[in-house]
Amino acid sequence: MNRTRTDVLVVGSGIAGLTTALKLSAHADVLLVTKKDRVDSNTNYAQGGVAAVMADDDSIPLHVGDTLLAGAGLCHRRIVEELAREGPERVRELIEWGVRFSRGEGGRLELGREAGHSRRRILHAADLTGREIERALLAAVADSGRVEVLDDHFAWRLLTTPNLGTDRRPRCTGALILDIPRARWIEVRARAVVLATGGCGRLYRHTTNPDIATGDGIAIGYEAGAAVANLEFVQFHPTALYPAGSHAFLISEAVRGEGAVLRSADGSRLMDGVHPSGSLAPRDVVARAIQAELGRSGAPHVSLDVSMIPEERFRERFPHIYESCRSGGIEVPGQPIPVIPAAHYQCGGLLTDWDGRTSLPGLFAVGEVACTGVHGANRLASNSLLEAVVFAHRAARRVRVDLSGTPAVEGTESISAPGPRPEGAPVDTVEATVREHMWDHVGLVRSDEGLAAARESLDGLTVEGVARPEEAGGAMRAREAEFQILVGSLIVRSAQRRLESRGLHFTTSHPHRDSERYLRDTVLAR
Ligand SMILES: Cc1cc2nc3c(=O)[nH]c(=O)nc-3n(C[C@H](O)[C@H](O)[C@H](O)COP(=O)(O)OP(=O)(O)OC[C@H]3O[C@@H](n4cnc5c(N)ncnc54)[C@H](O)[C@@H]3O)c2cc1C
Repeated sequence: MNRTRTDVLVVGSGIAGLTTALKLSAHADVLLVTKKDRVDSNTNYAQGGVAAVMADDDSIPLHVGDTLLAGAGLCHRRIVEELAREGPERVRELIEWGVRFSRGEGGRLELGREAGHSRRRILHAADLTGREIERALLAAVADSGRVEVLDDHFAWRLLTTPNLGTDRRPRCTGALILDIPRARWIEVRARAVVLATGGCGRLYRHTTNPDIATGDGIAIGYEAGAAVANLEFVQFHPTALYPAGSHAFLISEAVRGEGAVLRSADGSRLMDGVHPSGSLAPRDVVARAIQAELGRSGAPHVSLDVSMIPEERFRERFPHIYESCRSGGIEVPGQPIPVIPAAHYQCGGLLTDWDGRTSLPGLFAVGEVACTGVHGANRLASNSLLEAVVFAHRAARRVRVDLSGTPAVEGTESISAPGPRPEGAPVDTVEATVREHMWDHVGLVRSDEGLAAARESLDGLTVEGVARPEEAGGAMRAREAEFQILVGSLIVRSAQRRLESRGLHFTTSHPHRDSERYLRDTVLAR
């Protein structure tokens, strides 16, 4: 077993991990591990942009109000106020680090509009906002000189030390890392560990998320004893390009913000009479309306009519979508875009306080893996990149304070590398089974019977064991499959606890909102 020590271990190289690492780099030694290439992240695929109050006709109370409305009663108001208030400063910081957001006349920031926002407040870099943010943050981290970034290093599990500190509680003191290229285990001991591992879209048959989104941080945090919250609230994006599959191309909501309209198979306007905001209704409403329409018509997809957007404007505002559609044979804006819903964003996660602290001392969580209280039962579009930078800032500040009072850690327990595990199903079979059950029973529309069936099936699944470092790639995939089983079952258990319909959680068994009993977070801990 190789051993190394650092002040702070950050897991994940998306916007949350990179921002946290950057902010700590002047004050501590930071080791950042990421399981594939450093650009492989949900961040790199974000299209629409970052929400922040930048326009004269906008205000913090308006942003707060829009976020609370989307969250269907479960957002924590004071956290949302903090998010909206700190947002503009954090966005200006991104600009200082080199992020080039799109600008219009006179160099003024061009602000987009998305569903649920009462004002134009989405800063974007054409329709490749995430790629631009990732580029700039990676460059800034490289320039900082004090962050060691290790690609292809997979966080297998967290290390905890019992009876530490004055309260004698267990504390997170590092992680067991699989170094894939060198096929070896590394025991990393750190004074603070920050999980920034993103979401879990890969648990679903159709998703906009890339391969990395297997819920790892939720799984290893929960296994180590940290509480998770609100996992039942999985957001489905209504407009993934059809056919979608396991890595669907997203047609950003900003396209509907520019006037595009959803149409049924017979050409009628799908959202007329469903919601006053029409095609720009909240995502859960639009996604369920599409699902219902697909069930009614038997059609494989609905259509996004973009013909009202002049071609020049389309090409300039959405160059990536324009090229991707055309290379797939869809002559936008003349031809409509075939779309279906796909799993997109995990609103719940490891339960954190205002400063990113989980319930396990020494362990922080930032970005999509965290449940800060911002999103409640439904995330407002483009609030997630904002949440990541605001809470990375707050967590980094808290880590700095904690470091001064936390002695360097010596591992006391003996760590042995995981050996081969008992027989189970092959990884591909496990992943396919998880996706099928999550899509069919734990998706846009749920029921008591469906959730029970999914739980029984997930609880009975085990993965064929490969845990020898010399087969590192296979070992990582097997462990990811284990994570997917665990996170799937946590989502099901959370959904089973909420006997009502609210925001992203809709069940035919309990179709109404019950604020008397369920106006609270769903918290699970081992
Ligand atoms: C197609 C698409 C479009 C989107 N558009 C927008 C948008 O316009 N606006 C918006 O606000 N949000 C958008 N989102 C959501 C947003 O991109 C994500 O919520 C956000 O980028 C998450 O950032 P993160 O840093 O928390 O995680 P990620 O960016 O997903 O990064 C996670 C990192 O953790 C690493 N990792 C995971 N597990 C392990 C492990 N076990 N060991 C080591 N490393 C690990 C991954 O490799 C990766 O580097 C979009 C998402 C998608 C998929």
